Amino acid sequence: MEEMLQKILDQNRYWIKYGEVPSYIPALAKANPEDLGVSVVNMKGQIVTIGDCSTKFTMQSISKPLALMQAIMDSGPVEVFRKVGMEPTGDPFNSIIKLETLKPSKPLNPMINAGAITTSSLINGSNSTERIERLLELVRTLAGNNEIGINEEIYHSEKETADRNRALGYFMRDIGVLEGNVEDILDTYFRQCAIEVSCSDIANIAVGLANKGNTLDGQEVVPADIVRISNTFMVTCGMYNASGEFAIKAGLPAKSGVSGGIMALAPQKIGIGVYSPALDQRGNSIAGIHILEDLSAWLDLSIF
Ligand code: GLU
Repeated sequence: MEEMLQKILDQNRYWIKYGEVPSYIPALAKANPEDLGVSVVNMKGQIVTIGDCSTKFTMQSISKPLALMQAIMDSGPVEVFRKVGMEPTGDPFNSIIKLETLKPSKPLNPMINAGAITTSSLINGSNSTERIERLLELVRTLAGNNEIGINEEIYHSEKETADRNRALGYFMRDIGVLEGNVEDILDTYFRQCAIEVSCSDIANIAVGLANKGNTLDGQEVVPADIVRISNTFMVTCGMYNASGEFAIKAGLPAKSGVSGGIMALAPQKIGIGVYSPALDQRGNSIAGIHILEDLSAWLDLSIF
């Protein structure tokens, strides 16, 4: 396994030069584009790590399936899906257009920013601090790492520059999707995006999702029916507007984030974490995508 994984990583390092580290959140631009790591955990908890697997990065959109699961656990599926839809958009993750053109209007799914801001608002808590503590607890339990916290620099950097997410938030309050204090809801979203992990952490979270929401020693963290919903969204909407192509080429539930991480899983088989911050034009880690495609082909992991 180790040898093959090393080979897959080495042959895909080539793609880095075709990608770019994002700068729209200023602090993310400090990432080293050459960083590249992959961690794979099997159902026995055996982990193989190759490359930069202890480098920390922020979850960004990888937090979205976790916020979705916490929101469903807290508010129930009826309330969550009254406010957020179940369909892919084909639009960029931060697009506002369909919120205005579709009637009646609600975010199309919980993996785009509008939908994720809404699910963050449906986590129990009377303010952002209480909501983020619940989410952090979920992330820490699934990752088996109590040290996981928030990168304050990246949180502030996003919060100070998030005009587009703010626009989404206020627009959604106007149409009745968000209720209450928009700044406080956005604060939860900015903090969840700044949760700091390594690719081994996300591989450990992913293996819990591959194990239907249970830790490998059998503790239920998320009910299986809620994990099934989240994993399905990862297939249909997890890789931005490249989700269809990724489903064909890799066939795995996966969620990427603009920090360059990708969390992927093969149900009942393995959890995978990849990190490489140079992104393609849709916001996916360019080497990360290719690594997952090769890994899926090598181990015959496609769920289809
Ligand atoms: N915090 C980022 C934003 O809202 C997350 C985007 C992403 O990773 O897709 O723009």
